Amino acid sequence: MMDTDFIDEFKGMMELKYAEHHPKKGDSWKDCSMGFLWDKFLEEAREVCERAASQYEPDKDTMSELVDVALVAAMLWAREKKNLIDRLDEGLPQNFTDGLYAKR
Ligand SMILES: [Mg+2]
Repeated sequence: MMDTDFIDEFKGMMELKYAEHHPKKGDSWKDCSMGFLWDKFLEEAREVCERAASQYEPDKDTMSELVDVALVAAMLWAREKKNLIDRLDEGLPQNFTDGLYAKR
Protein backbone atom coordinates (compact mmCIF):
# COMPACT_ATOMS: atom_id res chain seq x y z
CA MET A 1 0.00 0.00 0.00
CA MET A 2 1.38 3.36 -1.01
CA ASP A 3 1.85 5.76 1.90
CA THR A 4 0.13 9.07 1.15
CA ASP A 5 -0.17 10.29 4.76
CA PHE A 6 2.38 13.04 4.10
CA ILE A 7 0.21 14.33 1.25
CA ASP A 8 -2.85 14.43 3.53
CA GLU A 9 -0.83 16.25 6.18
CA PHE A 10 0.54 18.71 3.62
CA LYS A 11 -2.98 19.36 2.28
CA GLY A 12 -4.08 20.13 5.85
CA MET A 13 -1.26 22.68 6.16
CA MET A 14 -2.28 24.26 2.86
CA GLU A 15 -5.88 24.57 4.08
CA LEU A 16 -4.70 26.26 7.31
CA LYS A 17 -2.52 28.67 5.34
CA TYR A 18 -5.37 29.44 2.94
CA ALA A 19 -7.70 30.13 5.89
CA GLU A 20 -5.11 32.67 7.15
CA HIS A 21 -4.68 34.20 3.71
CA HIS A 22 -8.35 34.46 2.76
CA PRO A 23 -9.60 37.13 5.23
CA LYS A 24 -6.82 39.49 4.03
CA LYS A 25 -6.77 38.78 0.31
CA GLY A 26 -10.13 37.13 -0.39
CA ASP A 27 -10.51 35.66 -3.86
CA SER A 28 -8.16 38.20 -5.48
CA TRP A 29 -6.04 35.29 -6.77
CA LYS A 30 -8.95 34.35 -9.03
CA ASP A 31 -8.94 37.73 -10.82
CA CYS A 32 -5.33 38.94 -10.72
CA SER A 33 -3.17 38.61 -13.83
CA MET A 34 -1.49 35.29 -14.49
CA GLY A 35 1.81 37.20 -14.60
CA PHE A 36 1.26 38.44 -11.05
CA LEU A 37 0.54 34.91 -9.85
CA TRP A 38 3.59 33.43 -11.64
CA ASP A 39 5.75 36.19 -10.12
CA LYS A 40 4.33 35.29 -6.70
CA PHE A 41 5.19 31.64 -7.30
CA LEU A 42 8.78 32.54 -8.18
CA GLU A 43 9.01 34.82 -5.14
CA GLU A 44 7.81 32.06 -2.80
CA ALA A 45 10.08 29.49 -4.46
CA ARG A 46 13.05 31.85 -4.10
CA GLU A 47 12.23 32.39 -0.41
CA VAL A 48 12.22 28.70 0.36
CA CYS A 49 15.39 28.00 -1.65
CA GLU A 50 17.30 30.83 0.04
CA ARG A 51 16.07 29.68 3.44
CA ALA A 52 17.03 26.05 2.80
CA ALA A 53 20.44 27.04 1.42
CA SER A 54 21.32 28.93 4.59
CA GLN A 55 19.80 26.44 7.01
CA TYR A 56 21.11 22.95 7.66
CA GLU A 57 18.95 22.16 10.68
CA PRO A 58 15.35 20.96 10.37
CA ASP A 59 13.37 24.15 10.34
CA LYS A 60 9.67 24.90 10.74
CA ASP A 61 9.97 28.12 8.74
CA THR A 62 11.31 26.23 5.73
CA MET A 63 8.36 23.88 6.00
CA SER A 64 5.98 26.84 6.19
CA GLU A 65 7.57 28.40 3.10
CA LEU A 66 7.11 25.12 1.23
CA VAL A 67 3.39 25.34 2.01
CA ASP A 68 3.38 28.89 0.53
CA VAL A 69 4.90 27.54 -2.69
CA ALA A 70 2.33 24.76 -2.87
CA LEU A 71 -0.57 27.10 -2.19
CA VAL A 72 0.42 29.44 -5.02
CA ALA A 73 0.96 26.35 -7.23
CA ALA A 74 -2.58 25.21 -6.39
CA MET A 75 -3.93 28.67 -7.29
CA LEU A 76 -2.05 28.55 -10.59
CA TRP A 77 -3.37 25.04 -11.21
CA ALA A 78 -6.95 26.21 -10.69
CA ARG A 79 -6.45 29.27 -12.92
CA GLU A 80 -4.83 27.20 -15.70
CA LYS A 81 -7.74 24.77 -15.52
CA LYS A 82 -10.29 27.60 -15.72
CA ASN A 83 -8.44 29.20 -18.64
CA LEU A 84 -8.43 25.85 -20.42
CA ILE A 85 -12.16 25.39 -19.85
CA ASP A 86 -12.83 28.94 -21.09
CA ARG A 87 -10.89 28.22 -24.28
CA LEU A 88 -12.87 25.05 -25.09
CA ASP A 89 -16.41 25.60 -26.34
CA GLU A 90 -17.51 22.17 -25.31
CA GLY A 91 -15.84 22.32 -21.88
CA LEU A 92 -13.30 19.90 -20.54
CA PRO A 93 -13.73 16.27 -21.45
CA GLN A 94 -14.69 14.01 -18.54
CA ASN A 95 -11.30 12.30 -18.71
CA PHE A 96 -9.22 15.46 -18.98
CA THR A 97 -6.84 14.40 -16.20
CA ASP A 98 -6.03 11.13 -18.02
CA GLY A 99 -2.35 11.16 -18.81
CA LEU A 100 -1.87 14.54 -17.13
CA TYR A 101 0.31 13.01 -14.45
CA ALA A 102 1.75 10.13 -16.46
CA LYS A 103 5.50 9.71 -16.45
CA ARG A 104 7.11 11.38 -19.43
MG1 LIG B 1 6.47 32.85 1.90
